[in-house]
Amino acid sequence: MGSIRLRFPPSPTGRIHIGNIRTALFNWLWARKQGGTLVLRIEDTDRERSATEFEEIIIRELQWLGLDVDEGVNKGGDYGPYRQSERLDIYKKYANKLLEEDKAYYCYCTPEELEQMRKEARARGEMPRYNGRCRHLTDEERKKLESEGRKPVIRFKLPDEEQEIIVNDQIKGKVSFQTSVLDDFIIFKSDGMPTYNFAVVIDDALMKITDVIRGEDHLSNTPKQLLLYEALGFEPPRFAHLPLILNKDREKLKKRSNDDAVYIGEYRRKGYLPEALFNYLALLGWAPRDGQELLSREELIRRFELKDVNKSGAVFDIDKLNWLNGKYIRNADIKRIVDLSIPYLKEAGLITGEVDASLYRWLVKVIDVARTGVDYLKQIPEETSLFFKKNVEFEDKSKAIEEFSQDGVTEVFTTLVNKLKQLETLTPEAIDGIFKEMKKELPVSPRTIYHPVRLALTGLNSGPEIKNVIYILGINEVEKRLNEALNMTE
Ligand code: GLU
Repeated sequence: MGSIRLRFPPSPTGRIHIGNIRTALFNWLWARKQGGTLVLRIEDTDRERSATEFEEIIIRELQWLGLDVDEGVNKGGDYGPYRQSERLDIYKKYANKLLEEDKAYYCYCTPEELEQMRKEARARGEMPRYNGRCRHLTDEERKKLESEGRKPVIRFKLPDEEQEIIVNDQIKGKVSFQTSVLDDFIIFKSDGMPTYNFAVVIDDALMKITDVIRGEDHLSNTPKQLLLYEALGFEPPRFAHLPLILNKDREKLKKRSNDDAVYIGEYRRKGYLPEALFNYLALLGWAPRDGQELLSREELIRRFELKDVNKSGAVFDIDKLNWLNGKYIRNADIKRIVDLSIPYLKEAGLITGEVDASLYRWLVKVIDVARTGVDYLKQIPEETSLFFKKNVEFEDKSKAIEEFSQDGVTEVFTTLVNKLKQLETLTPEAIDGIFKEMKKELPVSPRTIYHPVRLALTGLNSGPEIKNVIYILGINEVEKRLNEALNMTE
């Protein structure tokens, strides 16, 4: 392992969001590219909203996408524990250190008092900030407040003099903040839990993280974190803030939204392939210089560069994801696609019971054709249901009869059957060739060549390509259905 150490520290407060997975993926790519170490840490200091179930989801979805980590909650390592709720003593120790060094202080202000403070600041036209009221409490004053039953928080003491804090971001470049826009922020909450900003600094420092790659929504936290690094005497890591992911209206995708579109598991359930989603997510905020879009994991590792990540927001484009996924579905080993499709076919009631060898062989044929028309595997039943039916059902029988009675239809049907019988091997390409010949040879319109055949074979006006329908039904079934259609006209 090389010397760089990266981390992915999600909060298990909801089903993992696509934005977080993208962050994990960029960390993974960079770690793999540099031969570094990726750490999975669970940031569960929000007692009320954190749940083990969400942690399990995080681990499951990371595994599904192939984002393996080298150290962390599910892996162990030399810098554990890797769950923040198990590290409280560590945070307390460092909070006490700051208290002793007069770099932090207890604050007893109630939520109502803080609200009042904010109101007054706004009325004066100032930014609503904590005014430092508890900065200089004496021991006696503290005791009195405690005897009133107040539970304190611990606040970090900002430097007295205004200071400029510069974040040298690996993506955004130099970003400058003035301490005057900050206030004495809380590092320990009254419930005895550290705040995110405090815990993250201690963990990143103690876990020897060298590079923090995370969402741009954390850029405004970085000056606070840099102040903490300095106060605690730790060396800060390098930072890289990834552009936000936007929806089509260029609005931020909401982090805690329950919207299925942002939950990664929804894509798995719909039958997106992990390698397609992997490829797509890598392109959310980054692209290789030649604009190539279909990239394997190995190519992504080879070509990914942190400095090439975009500064501005990345739009989540479902059409592009569908396009990529369709490509991966068509390129994948057909047996894998069949195995992944069987549960959807069962769910749709098209398959009941065990799949024996002959059904499996037939499925390979059917799905190989159907996959040319789908974006994700949940669409397979719809694309194939036609082939599971024993008999043709017409929506409007009298219209069908009218169609089959048209001039030239009998000739088309008999020519087609004759030509099919002459084929050495039945392939979609050969069938396509037959239709081309018929268009040239027969004195009828192209519509009369295609539409009655489709209707006779499927009972439908539209559907999978006719060459594929014939290929799957086979010559005998095609002949039978065409004859039945002609018999209807008698
Ligand atoms: N737990 C934080 C989150 O999920 C981590 C942010 C960070 O990477 O520092 O947003």
